Amino acid sequence: MISENIKKVQNNIIDAAQAAGRDPKEVTLIAVSKTKPVEALQEAYDAGMRDFGENKVQEIVEKYDKLPQDIRWHLIGHLQTNKVKYIIDKVYMIHSVDSYKLACEISKHAQKHNVIMPILIEVNVANEETKFGVKPENTEELVKMISQLPAISVKGLMTVAPFTENPEENSTYFSTLKQLLVDINAKNIDNVNMDCLSMGMSGDYMVAINEGSTYVRVGTSIFGQRQYMI
Ligand SMILES: *Cc1c(COP(=O)(O)O)cnc(C)c1O
Repeated sequence: MISENIKKVQNNIIDAAQAAGRDPKEVTLIAVSKTKPVEALQEAYDAGMRDFGENKVQEIVEKYDKLPQDIRWHLIGHLQTNKVKYIIDKVYMIHSVDSYKLACEISKHAQKHNVIMPILIEVNVANEETKFGVKPENTEELVKMISQLPAISVKGLMTVAPFTENPEENSTYFSTLKQLLVDINAKNIDNVNMDCLSMGMSGDYMVAINEGSTYVRVGTSIFGQRQYMI
């Protein structure tokens, strides 16, 4: 049952936040609904979810009109510059910005629609070859450049931690991301005051909350295993 799964995850979030001495309200649960049919999303919506995460532009576009308009759509997957135009008026936040070129394109289209697009910078904290994201040591420079763009607002950092059987192993990556955010904020860069950390998935969101996460992106623990058509 999706609604029961959501309740469980929400309770875990409360437990993890309280154990870390944090207010559970600081943590927003994003239901990652990629590959799932709109009926499943509607069920999650009826159980109170309003934040949904998708990793493909096409899936957001297809689902957008079939679901309630007060949903906040989070784009959490790699975004190609030529697809920005399809989602600029549909998404609440883009979590996966990792290049200046992409940020320029987002700002350009946001300007056309008269909006300021909130974004996060995706950081490859574990330096994994297979992963998107900017290197930790290049993050400050990228934040600095992007914050000059007119129609974009850098809200924080995001990471996809390595897959592991033991979630505790990822706590070092989460604390690295948090420290990076603190360090960049301390540089007093114009227009930069980041307070969002998007980190933690089904396997490790409680560890991430302990390290300061403000957005956890949970798919499998809410909707069950994904089946990919090949
Ligand atoms: C799929 C995905 C998630 C959710 O993963 P689960 O392990 O199913 O919770 C979170 N973040 C990103 C970027 C994803 O692509």
